[in-house]
Amino acid sequence: MAAPKVKLNNGLEIPALGLGTWQADAEGKCEEAVKYAIDIGYRHFDCAYLYGNEKEIGRAIQDKIKDGTVKREDLYITSKLWNDSHSPEKVVDACKKSLSNFGLPYVDLYLIHWPCGYDSQRGGAIFPSKFSSPSFSIIDTWKEMEKCVKLGLTKSIGISNFNHEQIERLLKHAEIKPVVNQVEVHPNLTQKKLIDFCKQLDIVVVAYCPLGTLGRSRRKDDDPTLVNIGKKYGKTSSQVILRYLVDIGTIPIPKSTNKERLKLNIDIFDFKLTPEEIQTIDKYDNNTRLCSASELQSHPEYPFHLDY
Ligand code: NAP
Repeated sequence: MAAPKVKLNNGLEIPALGLGTWQADAEGKCEEAVKYAIDIGYRHFDCAYLYGNEKEIGRAIQDKIKDGTVKREDLYITSKLWNDSHSPEKVVDACKKSLSNFGLPYVDLYLIHWPCGYDSQRGGAIFPSKFSSPSFSIIDTWKEMEKCVKLGLTKSIGISNFNHEQIERLLKHAEIKPVVNQVEVHPNLTQKKLIDFCKQLDIVVVAYCPLGTLGRSRRKDDDPTLVNIGKKYGKTSSQVILRYLVDIGTIPIPKSTNKERLKLNIDIFDFKLTPEEIQTIDKYDNNTRLCSASELQSHPEYPFHLDY
């Protein structure tokens, strides 16, 4: 079953659910998982230079185009600029590097992964324990993101992990408006204020870590309230959570490399939660952030010091 599409502020469309690919390369499962996902209807793939698996994903995509399952234009591919490439002279080359990894002439969406740029060797860690100055202006980085659109390297550009103040600042200088802000959203972090703020600006919120603690701990799918809501529709708790994210107007990007769970996660477009059920799930919000990037707390652009 394919996901319906959502219109972006530049007139282009994005599938209403995507496949997350962070940590999908464990045990060499990434390529197979992406091929299987395409076979069962996934068309939107959330990728990033940081995840280190753009080549595997690219091979899977080429394979599925070659065997006639899809055409390039049926797919929606996102990648992200890593923090060590915010320096204006690095942005276009970083985008080209991701394209070369995928073996594609363009991506559909290119995001600034975090508002925190720094000069650093990543080494083995996702975030360095120390980052050296200068930290780069998000405006200067954005100007280069705009260049990526003008050069035809990406159809759209967006941001990730930006707070409302950073979005406001960016919009004052942007020639091309970001189409999405990708942030953590799940029942324990419902992000109401940020979602409302983005909605008013016609910026779509893409929900990462959509399964929240259920995904993180791989704990049993047995929350009694969610199980009960799910029973009414013949769905699991995880499907109820993903549908909740769609119903509050976000685009969830659950990651899985497991065939059964890949099937479950996209099978959420034949039901809709009632306003009362949405309100019940809203009450799970306890401001639990799974990706707090606490290593970046001393960075001048650390996004999570503000309420939203
Ligand atoms: P997630 O998708 O909420 O959870 C993934 C975990 O849940 C995996 O361990 C997966 O294991 C398991 N899982 C998948 N489907 C399940 C189901 N139906 N029931 C129970 N467990 C299930 O978390 P995430 O991967 O952190 O976030 C999703 C995507 O968002 C990432 O892959 C990445 O693309 C993006 N992301 C972006 C940022 C950012 O800074 N922009 C940060 C974090 C994530 P199996 O694979 O074994 O099924």
